[in-house]
Amino acid sequence: MAGFVVEHDLTTQTLNKNDLTKNIHGQVSVPGNKDEQSSYRWELGGILSGIVFTHELCRKKKVTSGTCTLGCDNTGASLASFGCKRRSPRWACFDLVNMIRYHIKHSPIQWEHQHVKGHQDDHKRFAELDQWSQANVLVDKIAKRELRLNRQLVAGPLLEGQSWKLRRKGRPIAGNVEKQIRNTIHEEKMKKRWIHQFGLDETDEDQYDCWETFKRTCKAKKEWEKVWYAKYNARIGPVMSNLVRRKHEDNPACPRCGEYESTDHVF
Ligand SMILES: [Zn+2]
Repeated sequence: MAGFVVEHDLTTQTLNKNDLTKNIHGQVSVPGNKDEQSSYRWELGGILSGIVFTHELCRKKKVTSGTCTLGCDNTGASLASFGCKRRSPRWACFDLVNMIRYHIKHSPIQWEHQHVKGHQDDHKRFAELDQWSQANVLVDKIAKRELRLNRQLVAGPLLEGQSWKLRRKGRPIAGNVEKQIRNTIHEEKMKKRWIHQFGLDETDEDQYDCWETFKRTCKAKKEWEKVWYAKYNARIGPVMSNLVRRKHEDNPACPRCGEYESTDHVF
């Protein structure tokens, strides 16, 4: 659930006490396709809008220096936004991280971040929580209420710092650009290769479902398992027949039973 808390500590004469204690909340639509949305992306959307809003406030009130601390209950989103790690197009939600970094870089004020543990009201009374945790509980409630309204989203105007967009099959790519480009170039070829490998009929109407299931299964595996599955499914794993072919062994016989050791034999 997207939630952010911004605490102002701006060294200026133009912001009065009322501005600093005012509780402001608003709704933002996080751009992106439905299948790209995640709690991580919503957190990033919250961080981005918090920063952009604060900058707008600074501009209006002519604030030119100061420090702002942004609280967030998602460590990954905080680190991607404020961490010193060099950002990479391989990251998920690279588009939003890019924009957040842009706005922090061009900010008139200093930005700091603080991790606030989420859902603390599950175990403690609201009144016992500190200011940060209370604010986190409140924004969580507001966000849930907003989500229930199921509003029709409208595409907003372009935001400063938005980089050029790559599109795949007409849809903009939000993150892991390298993987998406690789898929665009190779997916059709890969699909044909695996259909052939598994001896399936290329004209089969169920082919699309098979391919989607195969992709989902592969995605659900850990990285080392993916490599293992790909190798064995492609029949290039280190079984005796392959080792002989590569001149690493002389005898293709199975060490247990003496039969010819192919990949299928091992299974
Ligand atoms: Zn054997």
